[in-house]
Amino acid sequence: TDIPVTVIGLGLMGQALAGAFLKAGHPTTVWNRTTSKAERLVAEGARLAPTAGDALQAGSLTIICLTDHQAVQEVLDATEVDGTTLVNLTSGSSAQAREAARWAERRGARYLDGAIMAVPPAIGTAEAVILHSGPRPVFDAHEPALGALGTVVHLGGDPGLASLYDVAGLAMMWNVLNAWLHGTALLGTAGVDAATYAPFAQQIATVVAGWLPGYAEQIDRGAYPAEVSALETDARAMAHLVEESEAAGVDTGLPKLIKAMADRSIAAGHGAEQYPVLIDEFRTPTHKK
Ligand code: NDP
Repeated sequence: TDIPVTVIGLGLMGQALAGAFLKAGHPTTVWNRTTSKAERLVAEGARLAPTAGDALQAGSLTIICLTDHQAVQEVLDATEVDGTTLVNLTSGSSAQAREAARWAERRGARYLDGAIMAVPPAIGTAEAVILHSGPRPVFDAHEPALGALGTVVHLGGDPGLASLYDVAGLAMMWNVLNAWLHGTALLGTAGVDAATYAPFAQQIATVVAGWLPGYAEQIDRGAYPAEVSALETDARAMAHLVEESEAAGVDTGLPKLIKAMADRSIAAGHGAEQYPVLIDEFRTPTHKK
């Protein structure tokens, strides 16, 4: 906890990150374009650096959390980063993360990219999951300090991984929520309120989540024997889902999309295989269908 750290960027998230370091006892240097945002942290014991360059030299570890990668480039382009360790927790694409990692390497800095899967009030608690990717030894060396921010995870050496896991997690979240909302709208036409359906939906989501490890094995083996049910059986139920949605007068976009994917896979000869064979549909870019 006596390891000196630096936080560059004191927006809502940067302030939470710096606050968590201070709370854990780290000597904390901060810098922000708009100096006034450092006031509360300075009152709590942070040192405000006059320039980003000065801030970078102060700690053995620098966290950067700005609006986007362009802002990070604007700040770092003008500063000496040679010999420093940068952990960039700014949201962006995997391509931007890899580009930033190459840039840092050329400039002599150690670099980890990260993605914060939490809101600012959760920072500093175990609930805040922060994903990191980039060289493992850099993560290992700084894990004790990074741990002050939340539950920190290292995903692999490719610096783009944290961003990819981040968007994959969002896809999971939105698909689960949309499936639930669709069902809620459908049941609402029969007078069932959302609160009545929610525990049922929650149970289904939990059961389905339990299938993932077994299905993942099929995907990694590239073999999809129908152990439980064949895709064409699913497709018949999908047709009911579309019909029920149409009859109920609710939006049919999502059920039709689900059915179209299964229909394409069946047309390609996969009807007797198990559901995860649909991975091929997801692996094929839309313009090639
Ligand atoms: P804010 O809008 O609150 O803060 C943005 C920060 O970026 C400020 O410090 C701002 O400085 C700085 N900045 C923007 N452009 C420049 C520039 N050209 N030069 C220097 N500084 C610049 O955003 P958040 O703190 O909420 O978010 C920061 C990052 O964290 C984003 O990438 C976001 O996606 C990510 N994140 C945020 C979450 C949240 O719930 N807030 C959750 C997960 C990730 P100034 O004060 O001078 O304007």
